[in-house]
Amino acid sequence: RLILGIESSCDETGAGIVRLGADGGMELLADEVASSVEQHARFGGVVPEVASRAHLEAMVPSMRRALEKADVDLAQIDAIAVTAGPGLAGALLVGVSAAKAYAAALNKPLYGVNHLAGHVAADTLQHGPLPERCLALLVSGGHSQLLLVEGLASSITEIGSTVDDAAGEAYDKVARLLDLPYPGGPPIDRLAKQGNGCAIAFPRGLTGPRDAKYDFSFSGLKTSVARWVERREAAGEEVPLADVAASFQEAVADVLTAKAIRACRDLDVDTLVISGGVAANSRLSGLAAERCADAGITLRVPSPRLCTDNGAMIAAIGAHLVAAGAQPSGLSLSTNPGLPVEVVQVR
Ligand code: ATP
Ligand code: MG
Ligand code: FE
Repeated sequence: RLILGIESSCDETGAGIVRLGADGGMELLADEVASSVEQHARFGGVVPEVASRAHLEAMVPSMRRALEKADVDLAQIDAIAVTAGPGLAGALLVGVSAAKAYAAALNKPLYGVNHLAGHVAADTLQHGPLPERCLALLVSGGHSQLLLVEGLASSITEIGSTVDDAAGEAYDKVARLLDLPYPGGPPIDRLAKQGNGCAIAFPRGLTGPRDAKYDFSFSGLKTSVARWVERREAAGEEVPLADVAASFQEAVADVLTAKAIRACRDLDVDTLVISGGVAANSRLSGLAAERCADAGITLRVPSPRLCTDNGAMIAAIGAHLVAAGAQPSGLSLSTNPGLPVEVVQVR
């Protein structure tokens, strides 16, 4: 069966096509993404109105490209999955409206899915089915969460999350104060390679003995980087940008991996999946690989293209739902910008 996935929760318009085999196996046939990131760059963050308009313009062309890439006709699509939340209200509405139109015109079942479950499902396109229980560290521009996954289609439980900024948001804010371009993850990652991650001891948020074990905090880290840079500038000293970038990156990777591995140990889970845009970070995946190897935990990180927002991951979670025999959502499906991670499918 062919599953079409539509994504429009933030600033990426995605159309992906996945083939679901009779044995439950999945094959990625197309993954077309159009990003409006450049239109937001001068604002230093996503502007919702700009994102919605960009989705409107990119939706049909992205769909056409995906069908062409997969070499299938629209009529051959067996089911349609679309991100129903969480995300920007106006942006979600564009994808859900398009999905409803296609579902109605083709008379095919429609599944409204959770974007966050999609991020985890992305990994199954590359590395096959997940074990019965695993932990997912979801780190992106809008989210930083630790999830216990006991069946992608059935049970996702949040065991920890950020109490302030998301990890990607911290990258974007620190990049801004270092005069690096938006989005900040890739330039900081590159710059950090020339610096020393141990040069500056930036704080590790919420790692005290009385702090919540699996929650994260990145806002203090960002402020600490800002104060450090200000003090240097006030003293008329040169700011060692590469060392600042590397030390900031080290602080983020250290806390994320330490807490994820601690959760794996506590919950007796032997597989960790890292997904979301920040999973593309070289130090995060490198440190996670080291620490998982030491702890006897299997680490799964999808390639960067599958980590950032895309339509293939939505097709993938849709395929998991279809395979599990879930009831379609129906054409009255509505968006939910604040959809909790536990709700894999919106009915
Ligand atoms: P969400 O999925 O939470 O709704 P989003 O659309 O912003 O939000 P993604 O597209 O998954 O999420 O990720 C974008 C974020 O990932 C940005 O904050 C960006 O800076 C960060 N990012 C991308 N590449 C890297 C990298 N190499 N290192 C660190 N962060 C990165
Ligand atoms: Mg994005
Ligand atoms: Fe995302």
